[in-house]
Amino acid sequence: MEEKNNITEELAERIRGAEKVLVGLGAEWGTLDRTEAARAYKALGRLLDGKDYFIVTVSVDGEILQSGLDGKRITAPCGNLHWFQCREACTKDIWEEGEVPDGKCPHCGADLIPNTVDAEHYIEEGYLISWREYTSWLARTLNRRLEVLELGAGMSMRELQVVRWPFEKTVFFNNKAHMYRISKEFPQISDEIREKALSVRENSVEFVEKL
Ligand SMILES: [Zn+2]
Repeated sequence: MEEKNNITEELAERIRGAEKVLVGLGAEWGTLDRTEAARAYKALGRLLDGKDYFIVTVSVDGEILQSGLDGKRITAPCGNLHWFQCREACTKDIWEEGEVPDGKCPHCGADLIPNTVDAEHYIEEGYLISWREYTSWLARTLNRRLEVLELGAGMSMRELQVVRWPFEKTVFFNNKAHMYRISKEFPQISDEIREKALSVRENSVEFVEKL
């Protein structure tokens, strides 16, 4: 118990001292119902209050955009279940929920389907603007005191590609970076960044809510 308190105190201290905070949200954040999500993102918002942060998430439920977190500091490259695209990808247009009452593409008449990576022809325009914001923000973290919070990322291909691998690379190349990898199942840290990273084997949502 005492050890756990030390971890949370040190984490809060590191966030206070960081110039930039990069947050990655994995599958542990994608299985929450509305109420749970609201509570979890509120806790995350308290932790990041006043910081220069950016959040990259693999979730597609869009709940994070309903939270108090700054939408300009969030990117969700796997898409959003509440946005719609043409199944045939005849256009790069994206529609919001209810915007097209009959659910058919106004251009070709094909079904509109959720704009996520699960679409056969995923229209990436839905997230690309925020993704560009993210990559330019990330470029500005070089040689800055960067704290990286990787929360609940497992080993699925999308979690590896969007969160785990790029985060490891970022921490490796930034001499002032430090990372927490918090995950109930996969908190292991590779040798390359062992000196700069701490592993916490715990559900990351519960961990953040306790801070
Ligand atoms: Zn169409």
